[in-house]
Amino acid sequence: MTSNSSSCDADDPNRPDWQQYAQWDRHHVWHPFTQMQDYEPLLIESADGCVLTDVHGNQLIDGVSSVWCNVHGHRHPKINAAICEQLDKVAHVTSLGMSNPTVVKLARRLAEITPAGLEHSFFSGDGASSIEVGLKMAFQYWRQCEQPEPEKDTYIALNSAYHGDTLGSVSVGGVARFHEMFEPLLFNVLRVENPDTYRLPDGVSPDKATQYFLEKLEATLAAHHQRVAAMIVEPLVQGAAGLVMQPAGYLKGVRELTRKYNVLLIVDEVAVGFGRTGTMFACEQEDVSPDILCLAKGITGGYLAMSATIATTEIWNAFLGDGLKTLYHGHTYAGNPLAAAAALASLDIFADENTLENVAQQSQFLGEQLRSRLADHPLVGDIRQRGLIAGIELVADRKQKTRLDPKLGTGAKVCQKAREKGVWLRPLRDTLVVMPPLCITQQQIELIVTAIEYGLSQLG
Ligand SMILES: *Cc1c(COP(=O)(O)O)cnc(C)c1O
Repeated sequence: MTSNSSSCDADDPNRPDWQQYAQWDRHHVWHPFTQMQDYEPLLIESADGCVLTDVHGNQLIDGVSSVWCNVHGHRHPKINAAICEQLDKVAHVTSLGMSNPTVVKLARRLAEITPAGLEHSFFSGDGASSIEVGLKMAFQYWRQCEQPEPEKDTYIALNSAYHGDTLGSVSVGGVARFHEMFEPLLFNVLRVENPDTYRLPDGVSPDKATQYFLEKLEATLAAHHQRVAAMIVEPLVQGAAGLVMQPAGYLKGVRELTRKYNVLLIVDEVAVGFGRTGTMFACEQEDVSPDILCLAKGITGGYLAMSATIATTEIWNAFLGDGLKTLYHGHTYAGNPLAAAAALASLDIFADENTLENVAQQSQFLGEQLRSRLADHPLVGDIRQRGLIAGIELVADRKQKTRLDPKLGTGAKVCQKAREKGVWLRPLRDTLVVMPPLCITQQQIELIVTAIEYGLSQLG
């Protein structure tokens, strides 16, 4: 452990030259989703709970859980201890041809806590990989299940879906700005409308929204189901699309329709899994069991890279038999014991600390704060929330819901200003995102909302 004092003690001759680090950061580290020409280094040296500390000793509340993955706060003693304990046994053993008790325990736990029927965990290292695996599983399943349907060679995905950045996950994704460039490399999928409760199509009232979107989906399924291997969906909230919230009953309807048309359902809980929306998994809120469930971000509490693609026994069985039936996919660090130890500790903490109880309390408080303090601001078009996921969409015209000119970078400006008040936020275009660790306190929520208020007040 490095001590903080070295970064604060100006007289220390061995004190690192952070200017130099910033320069190296700009030059040698190619940051994701970042225009490096504009990048301004922010070097975080340590963290504790929901608070990040930079190399100059400035503290920032981690308002987006280190981009949606931190669950119980940073440096949680139980997760740290679990990783250290595992490290004293073995850091990594391959999952190809052998296993490790910690990894076995995690697979067993996941089978217990995920919706009924999901029994078989295929581990990999990040969310995008878990999606690739799910897509390949579904495709191969139809070629070797008891009643094969080899003409099933495509997928249904939502219009602005985001499922990660590898080419397969980009193919099912639909965020134009992320994906346009790679169009020639992608496979075709069938698209259906975003079930967006804020921007409903003309003439669709909120109480008819679910029915409307499901009818659209059914039309696509009826026309193409013979060709569709699976539908993939982010349940309840479409994350990177801008925290688009689905109407109640939509997910349940998707499950019923995919079953009716003999199409597999892949649910991507990479962002919403592990307590984020108020239940351990978002699927639970609509009593849905998918055929394939993808988990990542929060699985290790946000400590180490790991993901899981969990399948039903029906799917698993189709892969049993001769060598040709094998799922030919794998990553070197699949099923890493250190990550599994962190994941098990994180699951224990849910029980020890009544995490879901805190999510219920704090999400209610967050909602009240956002509505009472931000709703009247002329730029705030919508405040939407599911558990500890909240989006504040800034618009040019509240009535027409007109988007702001993206070139203005309004969302980014508000977040930049929020930093002056000790809060780190990262927007999705002009939707401000509040997605703190699940251990967030009332006082910290107040500080986050104050920082947003301030950020909004500083817009010219
Ligand atoms: C972040 C995310 C992914 C991709 O996960 P990575 O670990 O970044 O590859 C996939 N799906 C959803 C819904 C996500 O939010």
